[in-house]
Amino acid sequence: MARIVIVGAGISGLTAALEASASPHEVVLLEGSPQIGGKLRLATIAGHQVDVGAESMLARRPEALELLADLDVEPVHPAAVSASIWTRDALRPMPKGTMLGVPADASDLESLLNPAELERARDERVVEVTGDLSVGDLVESALGPAVVDRLVEPLLGGVYAGHARRLSAAAAAPALLTAARHERPLTEAARSAMANASTSGAPRPVFASLRGGVGSLPKHLVRLLLDRGVTVRTGATARELVRTAGRWQVTVGETRAPEHINADAVILATPARATSRLLSAASPDAANALAEIGYASMGIVTYAFRRTESDVFTGSSGFLVPPIDERRIKASTFSSSKWPWLADTAPDLTFVRVSIGRHHEEADLQKSDAELAAAGMSDLRAALGDVPRPVAAHVQRWGGALPQYAVGHLDRIAGVRAGLTSLPGLEVAGAAYEGVGIPACIGTGRKAAGAVLTHLADR
Ligand SMILES: Cc1cc2nc3c(=O)[nH]c(=O)nc-3n(C[C@H](O)[C@H](O)[C@H](O)COP(=O)(O)OP(=O)(O)OC[C@H]3O[C@@H](n4cnc5c(N)ncnc54)[C@H](O)[C@@H]3O)c2cc1C
Repeated sequence: MARIVIVGAGISGLTAALEASASPHEVVLLEGSPQIGGKLRLATIAGHQVDVGAESMLARRPEALELLADLDVEPVHPAAVSASIWTRDALRPMPKGTMLGVPADASDLESLLNPAELERARDERVVEVTGDLSVGDLVESALGPAVVDRLVEPLLGGVYAGHARRLSAAAAAPALLTAARHERPLTEAARSAMANASTSGAPRPVFASLRGGVGSLPKHLVRLLLDRGVTVRTGATARELVRTAGRWQVTVGETRAPEHINADAVILATPARATSRLLSAASPDAANALAEIGYASMGIVTYAFRRTESDVFTGSSGFLVPPIDERRIKASTFSSSKWPWLADTAPDLTFVRVSIGRHHEEADLQKSDAELAAAGMSDLRAALGDVPRPVAAHVQRWGGALPQYAVGHLDRIAGVRAGLTSLPGLEVAGAAYEGVGIPACIGTGRKAAGAVLTHLADR
């Protein structure tokens, strides 16, 4: 029996551990912080457990739903309520069926663009591209800057807390880049994506969660891991990784009292910077490539309002805010309207959250909790008008929240993976690689575990 050590107990490491635990090998999961789950987290607000990290999982990809099925947990889906964009001082309906902000038909953007901007969008140009470029530059060349500023920016801001004119089209909008490479209009790519979605049987929900919230997923995972005999340790920060005679040694604990854990295989499911540090001896090239990946920090303020006073939040799942409008919040989710399970669990309350902070805009996060909560309320009032006083407010700060897939990201990751090919038994997983969303992270965790198990079987 071999020993597999997995470092990092976010969703990527937890999934890798689950996959590895189906083998006869010993599995040890090391988490540096006091709690399991990474960016999946619950907090108690006004007496109820509420998501203060990720709150929704893409259901158009299979991984999250498959994981729920493995855990014997029923998925739940958001209510069919609409979302808006808060721009030009008004809440405007979110155009339906765009592909990352690129509409099937430019006329779908009438609610967001002024007549000149709309005319430019209608006059779509086919973009000539060779290598990678930013999503913003690609869409701007095709449809004009306003489509980027009013729609692509807030949508990408919601996923990456990043900037459309810096994020890689190859990594963040591959279908749009492929269309451009084939000299096809981007709107045509959006049209065919929509046509595919409507001909592939009954409409399926786009997003999913579980009763108790996405933040309750780690608890279900840990329960199963412990049942399967996996050792799960918190407060165990991996500080060093070295190769020793064909095996690996992971060092945890304080420098004065280090603990060395031997392993036949290791999966690093940590954010890029931590992974870079751990790889510095074994693979300096991979470590350097990972060190180039920037991270956006952000804060989530969650408010609880009395349900009887919360009509203003009904019938909508919330809104996104383009950076061009220079507000402090970048989005608001009306959680109790979006998730019926939450409304049922806390019938007297309405939970609403706002997110603050994009890449390189960390100054807002220097403010105190009270100031952040007040800033969020001030924007909610500006957007919605009469908003009652909350009965509770909770601030969750996420330093190093989301990796930025800058132009050239795919080459950078190919470099990381190439650097690891000469190190059998060592794999990486996590949000830094092939997608920041939970399903993509699950995918990397499974892939890493599969590679490690194949390596151990081949020895
Ligand atoms: C506020 C917020 C909202 C989000 N909303 C959504 C959403 O609604 N839907 C969605 O799909 N995605 C969302 N995301 C993105 C998604 O949640 C993350 O990309 C994903 O959860 C990352 O998982 P991970 O396991 O790769 O990394 P992490 O969750 O970062 O886990 C890594 C773990 O490694 C640990 N660690 C780090 N260094 C060490 C070390 N040296 N030794 C031991 N342990 C270490 C960390 O403590 C952490 O627990 C959101 C992200 C944030 C921040």
